[in-house]
Amino acid sequence: MSGSSIWHPFTQHGLAEPIPLVERAQGAALFTADGRRIVDAISSWWVTTHGHAHPRIAAAIAEQVGNLDQIIFAGWTHKPAETLAAGLRAIMPPALTRVFFSDSGSTSVEVALKMALGYWLNRGEPRHRILVLEHGYHGDTIGAMSVGARGVFNRAYAPLLFDVETIPFPTVGGEQTTLDALDQACREGAAALIIEPLLLGAGGMLVYSAATLSEMRRICAQHGVLFIADEVMTAWGRTGTLLACEQAKIVPDILCLSKGLTGGAVPLAVTMAIEPIFAAHYGTDRSSMFFHSSSYTANPIACAAANANLAIWREEPVLERVADLARRQSKGLIMLQSQPGAINGRQLGTVTAIEIGDSNGYLSTLAPRLMSFFRERDVLLRPLGNTVYVMPPYCISDEDLDLVYDSIAEAIASM
Ligand code: PMP
Repeated sequence: MSGSSIWHPFTQHGLAEPIPLVERAQGAALFTADGRRIVDAISSWWVTTHGHAHPRIAAAIAEQVGNLDQIIFAGWTHKPAETLAAGLRAIMPPALTRVFFSDSGSTSVEVALKMALGYWLNRGEPRHRILVLEHGYHGDTIGAMSVGARGVFNRAYAPLLFDVETIPFPTVGGEQTTLDALDQACREGAAALIIEPLLLGAGGMLVYSAATLSEMRRICAQHGVLFIADEVMTAWGRTGTLLACEQAKIVPDILCLSKGLTGGAVPLAVTMAIEPIFAAHYGTDRSSMFFHSSSYTANPIACAAANANLAIWREEPVLERVADLARRQSKGLIMLQSQPGAINGRQLGTVTAIEIGDSNGYLSTLAPRLMSFFRERDVLLRPLGNTVYVMPPYCISDEDLDLVYDSIAEAIASM
């Protein structure tokens, strides 16, 4: 057993894999205690957009912490939160008029589900059936796991997870099956559909078309089923646009944002909702208010970081950087696809993925072998089963990106 008492997430400590000690990070690079410079090719679990230790975000955090660090948010407010809500209103779809704060992607999903159920109860038409997409992932709390795919990660908790109706993933050529299943499920009555727009992350970087997403949104609207877009991973330019939903020209009823909301520097999340959902909780009856909070709701330091992120989006050519990274990513993907053994190459915006060999699911022994292979080459990649994906910060240099793709090419050749 290791000397440290830390119990790490998604880590089998019995395998005694090395756990590098990171001392510093800058841009797309991590610097370890043993003097190595590691390229962060997965944006530290998909959060870092503009780069690590971004000077504008770091300065905003430093200034805020000496001014107002934390304040209860039930019945109190503060400037950073007000500025952030206004800033989000200005760049997010206008129909999303209400901003509810929490502190992680999972909590933003829990909030979304609770808002949907509260909406139906307060309207006097209680509904609780939730529709989900096959292979979806929405977080690791009990509610978020309930609406995500079932598997080895949640087997122990399965008896506690609530039942959902799963709509088949829209494979190429199988879109109509998905749409028909959704239509049927909506006809049978449902509170909401929750979905990762265009790109399913933890489910294996699975891409589906904007046309299908747009049809799914239309079907939900037709049957009055609330449409929840979990853009925790896809937002903030990841898929090439500020929101993935933009590419399908749709607006959800509820939108979950986290990860890149602060540029990836500190934890924060928001759940944005259309006015009727807020209105269903509004009135003079205290029993119809929205019963959700956490200690750090709208923490001022996190809000200041998010305000700095929004300023970067307003004042710097972020979407140009995203388009440039997407172009460079596509070159890397083309190179990999020319290798025998690389299958199912795919890309959406700044994200590329390929598969190596046959899948044995998440517990494929290939993933840990690949991970240490990349670690030895000073690249942080964390394959999902046999799917290797690249999702770097937008500031990654050509040289670093070449190192990432050369390492993957070498891995394909040697495995
Ligand atoms: N939703 C999606 C689509 C995600 O990708 C993730 C995290 N990878 C979450 C929710 C959960 O976010 P968090 O880990 O911040 O709780």
